[in-house]
Amino acid sequence: MAHIAVVEDEAPLRGDLVEYLGACGHRVVGCEDARALDRALATGPVDLIILDVNLPDEDGFSIAARLREQSEIGIIMLTARGINVDRVVGLEVGADVYLVKPVELRELEAQVRTLARRLKVAHTAATPVAPLGPWTYDQTAWTLATPDGAAVKLTGNERIFLSLLVVRPGEGVSRAEIFRALGKREWDPSDRSVDSMVRRLRAKGEQATGRELPVEAMHGLGYAFTAPVTVK
Ligand code: CA
Repeated sequence: MAHIAVVEDEAPLRGDLVEYLGACGHRVVGCEDARALDRALATGPVDLIILDVNLPDEDGFSIAARLREQSEIGIIMLTARGINVDRVVGLEVGADVYLVKPVELRELEAQVRTLARRLKVAHTAATPVAPLGPWTYDQTAWTLATPDGAAVKLTGNERIFLSLLVVRPGEGVSRAEIFRALGKREWDPSDRSVDSMVRRLRAKGEQATGRELPVEAMHGLGYAFTAPVTVK
């Protein structure tokens, strides 16, 4: 089912189109000119319009061109003039389909369905994907990967360091604990090697994955992994 506006100034033809497409299950509004179309667009959803070229107030090409500038609405152009130059102009102003009158109603409805499906697919693809999942710490592959799968390779010390953090995401791990895990005898406040390692890891991670690693210094405590993470 599609929301359709039929823009046609010949009342009998407009009536036939509205009736036929409505009987096919679409929601259809008939518009006798551009002004009526603008009113219809302002008051309800319209997926696609069936647009006559010769209209009393504004011709179909001009309507198609201005609609195309501001929306992804589907446009099926109807015209009695079947000459090639019109076809080209119709496509250049952004019509999706161009049909020559007299139009076969079944053919028109088939075009409506195809176009509605295409628009729906395009619309779905344009909507943002679901929120990002967790990071992945892989202890056998020695990698840390972003939720979308970009991985950074870890050195031995970086792996040891991260293995402490990822089991308690969001919680701080003390510098003393990190020092012990790295095989240093005791935490020495003048020893900045852990801080340097984290700095290098963050720079390397950002370069490899295009994201800032969620490894944060926690004042007076140590470091924390500040995002959801899966340990493999
Ligand atoms: Ca007309």
